[in-house]
Amino acid sequence: MSLITRTNLYLVLITVLGSACGDASAFSTFGSGGSGSKWDNPLWGTGATITWSFMNPGVALGPKAPSSWSGTNSLGTGSANDIRTIIDTVNGAGAFDAAVARAFDTWATAADLVFVQTADQGGAFGEDFTPDIRIGAFNFGPGDFAGGAGFGPPGDDLNFPDSLAGDLALNDANLFAIDPNSDGQLLTLGPNGEFVNDIESLLVHEIGHTLGLGHSNVTASVMCGFIDSSFNGSACDNLQLVKRQLNADDVAGIQTLYGGAAVVPLPAAAWLFGSGLLGLIGVAKRRERPGNARQV
Ligand SMILES: [Zn+2]
Repeated sequence: MSLITRTNLYLVLITVLGSACGDASAFSTFGSGGSGSKWDNPLWGTGATITWSFMNPGVALGPKAPSSWSGTNSLGTGSANDIRTIIDTVNGAGAFDAAVARAFDTWATAADLVFVQTADQGGAFGEDFTPDIRIGAFNFGPGDFAGGAGFGPPGDDLNFPDSLAGDLALNDANLFAIDPNSDGQLLTLGPNGEFVNDIESLLVHEIGHTLGLGHSNVTASVMCGFIDSSFNGSACDNLQLVKRQLNADDVAGIQTLYGGAAVVPLPAAAWLFGSGLLGLIGVAKRRERPGNARQV
C-alpha cells in the first residue's frame, strides 16, 4: 500500500514500452534512446551532482500538484502529522533526517552521483525549480494509499520539463516508522493490522523515481512497486518487504543513467580521511565535470 506514485500514467507507458522491447522483467527508465530523463548531462551513463532540500514547513501546493492533494507541507512543522516528529519521537532526535541521508547515500554509492543538501527556495510544491529534489509532505486525499510520490528528472520525453521535476512528496495521511525488521523481511504491521511504511525503504524507492527510474518487475528490487495497477499483477503485490538496499537490477538501472560510482583509491582515501580533506574531492569533481550547467 505504499510506493505508488502519482506518475502512474507515465509508468503505464513505460511498462508498455518495456514490454515492447521484450524486457518487462527488468528496470525501467523515464526516458529512452540513451539520453534524457536524468539530471545534468542528458547523455546516459554520465554522472550528476544533484541538489536537494526539505521544503520549508507550511509551503502550499502549487497548481501543478495533483488535484486530489490538500494541505500544506507538514514536514518540520511539529504538528501531529509531521513525519519527522513521528519518527524522532520513537527513534530519537535526528532519526528521520538520518534515514533520509542513508537513502541518498544508498544511490550515491551505486552510481556516479553526488548529492548536496541546500536551503530550500521556499516556493510552493511544483513551483520552484531549485534545488533539484525538494522533499515535503502533504495529504494525498481519501482512498489514496500511496506512501509517497516521486517526480522524474527534467528533460525527458514524458514531458517533465517543468518545476515538478524532482519533487518528492510523502503522504502525511499515511503511517510511517523505522521498521525493526531487516532487509528482505516483511514490513511490521501496526497494532491494528495497519500498513506502516518503513521510511527509509520508501525514500529509497521515491528517490529512485526522482533520479529517472520507473518501476521494475524484479521482486527483490527497491524499484518494484508494491501495488501498481499499471503492472496488472506486479511482482511485488502482496510482497511488502523492508527494502533499503539496492538489488542488482536497481544498480544496473542507475548505472545505465549515471555510470558507475567514482572510485577513490584506498591509500589516497585513507590519507584524505586522516587529513580531513576528503570533502575537497567532491568539490573538484563537480567543477571539472563537463556538461554540468547547473549551479550548486
Ligand atoms: Zn513507485
